[in-house]
Amino acid sequence: MDKRGKRIIYVSQCILNQNLRFPGIAIESGAISELLIPIMKNGIGIESMPCLERLGWGGVQRTTFFKYFPMISKNIGSFKFPIIKFFLRSWLKKYKNLCKKEAKKIILQMQDYHNSGYTILGIIATNDSPTCGYTQTINFLEIISKFKELDIKGEFENPTLEKMKIIIPRLCENGSGYFMSEMAKQIKRRELKVDIIGFNIWNNLAEEIEVVLNKLNLTV
Ligand code: SF4
Repeated sequence: MDKRGKRIIYVSQCILNQNLRFPGIAIESGAISELLIPIMKNGIGIESMPCLERLGWGGVQRTTFFKYFPMISKNIGSFKFPIIKFFLRSWLKKYKNLCKKEAKKIILQMQDYHNSGYTILGIIATNDSPTCGYTQTINFLEIISKFKELDIKGEFENPTLEKMKIIIPRLCENGSGYFMSEMAKQIKRRELKVDIIGFNIWNNLAEEIEVVLNKLNLTV
């Protein structure tokens, strides 16, 4: 017998550390404390889900993305583009496998909590990401194909918060990212009762936090 409350929330890692966000889109210098402090004050344990873009896109700086982006964007619409798309698809396949592998690890943790009498209140997933988005995501392949048409190539070559806070919400569409769709699939398969809440980071922050906390039935 000790003080543990046996209530857990899982969050996308960038909610704890905005330094992991894609360059140009960190909205805080560190954690999103306005969201985390009420959770902590309610005596809930916080588990972080790994930032898979750091693992699969070349670290914090997304070096893999920025290494190939100039070549990809130069060839959009050219006769070489179908070949580039083919390679992009096979890279995405590998990335999806990574998401699947990491989702399995988290599901096993959740199962362990569940079997040990803990309650998982939910998952808070950053909702503007090709990886962690749950109700909103960015279709990576679609967007790459449309960079020229949308006239946003320059913005991604040198991303800044001012530009990205206008562009990113416009690129979002309904649907789940690679990691969260895998999490949802495996939660269903294992019949775990875990809700996923999409955290709309570009909304008015105070209002969005209230929405998320209400969904979790937590007091501020
Ligand atoms: S949304 Fe997911 S992949 Fe993107 S920075 Fe946050 S944790 Fe990493």
